[in-house]
Amino acid sequence: MKDSNFLRENNARHLWHPMGHPGTVMNNPPNIISKAEGSTITDYEGNTVVDGVGGLWCVNVGYSCDPIKQAIIKQMDQLPYYSSFAGSTNEPAIELSYELCQMFSEEDMGRCFFTSGGSDSVETSLRLARQYHKINGHHSRTKFLSLKKGYHGTHFGGASVNGNSRFRTNYEPLLPGCYHIPSPYTYRNPFNESDPERLADLCVAAAADEIEFQGPDTIAAFIMEPIQGAGGVIVPHQSFMKKMRDLCTKHGILMIADEVITGFGRIGDWCGSRHWGVKPDMMTMAKGITSAYFPFGVCMVSENIAKRFEQGDSVTGNIGHGYTYSAHPVGAAAALACIKESQRLEIQTSAKIRGEQLFKGLEKLKEKHTFIGDVRGGHGLMAGIELVSNIENKTPMGSENMTKISAKIFESGAMVRVGGHNILMSPPCIITEEEVSQVLSALDEGFSIL
Ligand code: PLP
Repeated sequence: MKDSNFLRENNARHLWHPMGHPGTVMNNPPNIISKAEGSTITDYEGNTVVDGVGGLWCVNVGYSCDPIKQAIIKQMDQLPYYSSFAGSTNEPAIELSYELCQMFSEEDMGRCFFTSGGSDSVETSLRLARQYHKINGHHSRTKFLSLKKGYHGTHFGGASVNGNSRFRTNYEPLLPGCYHIPSPYTYRNPFNESDPERLADLCVAAAADEIEFQGPDTIAAFIMEPIQGAGGVIVPHQSFMKKMRDLCTKHGILMIADEVITGFGRIGDWCGSRHWGVKPDMMTMAKGITSAYFPFGVCMVSENIAKRFEQGDSVTGNIGHGYTYSAHPVGAAAALACIKESQRLEIQTSAKIRGEQLFKGLEKLKEKHTFIGDVRGGHGLMAGIELVSNIENKTPMGSENMTKISAKIFESGAMVRVGGHNILMSPPCIITEEEVSQVLSALDEGFSIL
């Protein structure tokens, strides 16, 4: 390893960081995170804090999971890589596809298409959705519907269904034929409706109206996150996803559940679709599948959809899509070990319990700090705090204050993620009661500087 002067001098000089302005990052070099253990991270200066972010909504089993590390080493020794393009496969990928179909049999998932991460999984689902309709002879079904505030990664397909201009505008024009409907976001919505159930109905009605306007037989799929994560942890009313499922079924539109964050325990269940009692047609997953020990993802396809592909003719049924690293043997081995460990530790139960503790604590902070406009969460370990500079007008808190607050929170013992004027949290699902308390007191100290 190079010495500390080298690292400090070269920090952000040759590396463009995702989701940041390269000039700004160069002038304010990022924290160098050097090591991690359990639910804590330690930076280059030796500061150890609780990781309220779980890496990036992904290190569900924490940083010290020896079975995953050992599985990776063992697989590296045996077979570090081989292609899974039709004609060859590998042992861990076969076993993982079996395990995942068992794990998500309640959602009727029947096949796995492996990828290298969330954006890849979303891209796969959008392409397969269009292809499914072509197999059925419905060539006009090419459009996509999604929710405003949704986040579906950064490939052109995912960015096109993304519902946040921060990830769209600089890259336009995006894919044609993508339409957005209002998010069930009680704090801000065009209906001025704060009752979650009534708002859910209004959003479903807006979706029905858009489908009618576009023409149902032009729409391939609707994609949604069971809880919108990066958009600010927006929790819909429990009826929302079910009603959207019914609407999709009525019009022959496929439903894609983007479970990249909500899959594998974080939501307090093994997936968000189960949490809301919904069977989607496809599920996109990544992050918690390996707890980020290896970049890996999957697009799962329901038994019914899969059968249509398998019976499709040799032209329309052929999957002309895939990645060099699809079904990577080391990723598959990491996923198998991670899932086994997640199940052994029952992380979905701990996420539920610790999530309730975190959410209750945040509600208390809202009573104390008047610039907290909204607190969201209460379903596993996903939480969002929306800060405003004027509570009456709901004016978003300025970026300078957000930076100051998050720096103080870090200094006080917790790493949190700033997304616009939201503070987002998704700590490892193995986080302890004391560590959640530490996050809460660090937030309190951070908020006290204003
Ligand atoms: N979908 C959702 C719901 C996500 O939250 C993310 C990333 O946070 C993605 C897709 C993209 O995943 P990745 O960053 O692994 O490409």
